[in-house]
Amino acid sequence: MSSWVDSAKWAKYLSKEGCPVCNQTPETRPPAERLIADLRVTRFIADRDTCLKGHCCLVLKPHVIEIYDLSDEDSTAFMCDVRVASLALKNVTGAVKLNYEIHGNTIPHMHMHLWPRQIGDRFENGPIDWRSKTPKTYEDGEFEAFIERMKTGILDRFTAKPTVISHKISSTSFLRHARGFLEALRLLAAAPKSPPAAATALLAAHSLEIGLKAFLLQIGWDEKRVKSLGHDLVKAWRCAQQNGLPVAADPPRWYKTLSSAHDKPFIARYARNNTGLVVPAIAELVRDIGGLLDQVGREIVNRGGTV
Ligand SMILES: [Zn+2]
Repeated sequence: MSSWVDSAKWAKYLSKEGCPVCNQTPETRPPAERLIADLRVTRFIADRDTCLKGHCCLVLKPHVIEIYDLSDEDSTAFMCDVRVASLALKNVTGAVKLNYEIHGNTIPHMHMHLWPRQIGDRFENGPIDWRSKTPKTYEDGEFEAFIERMKTGILDRFTAKPTVISHKISSTSFLRHARGFLEALRLLAAAPKSPPAAATALLAAHSLEIGLKAFLLQIGWDEKRVKSLGHDLVKAWRCAQQNGLPVAADPPRWYKTLSSAHDKPFIARYARNNTGLVVPAIAELVRDIGGLLDQVGREIVNRGGTV
């Protein structure tokens, strides 16, 4: 008999107060259930007592019955959880296909089953019948090992994997980085809509800062000395000029404005009330910063560096 027939019981299950999931305690949890990860809006679990290896479940933390009950924020977070969990499951099991199921016919509190499907599995070429359990889906120790691999798989997904890590700073790496920020600015310049001034200022100023610092590194400044300039673009300009970068002694006005937004109190980075920021048109910034970085590049090469 389905849970629906007993209308009083079903109504109780639908309410948060009577929901068997919301009112679960460690004592009432299925004994073979294990937590893989506590995600954004779901608990990612697996139960040894199942009909197919690798079966996992994402259980919503808030009391939700239907997808349309989810707030915009929670539905986005839920999909993020599904992506994180399913990727780990695919990587750990090498499944040929994943199945995603939301039913809630017995317990209506929203949960999604994740099934890794394999060639030759018990239900190949068809849907899974979760009622057709075998006495033992996992061999001894197999389920525990699966849980551990899943935990690691989830961690891998959460941990950012930088593609380049450079502990040693150099004129070459700084100039390359400066050009990267300029490239981002160039892409924005070609965008159909103007970006906010603060975002433009941030990219422009950082490109200038590390471009000038690249020159100073080339002439022998060490990391500590370069760092001591902070985000003061005017100071960086003057130091570079005094040490041989062929630019005017006094930076242009737009450059000074940019420096005041880039340096303390960092108005380009942190919004404050009643603060406005005016920056030159992006095309002009791209042209002028590009010119300066080209000059820095030439001076670095003239002094034996590589760019
Ligand atoms: Zn509930």
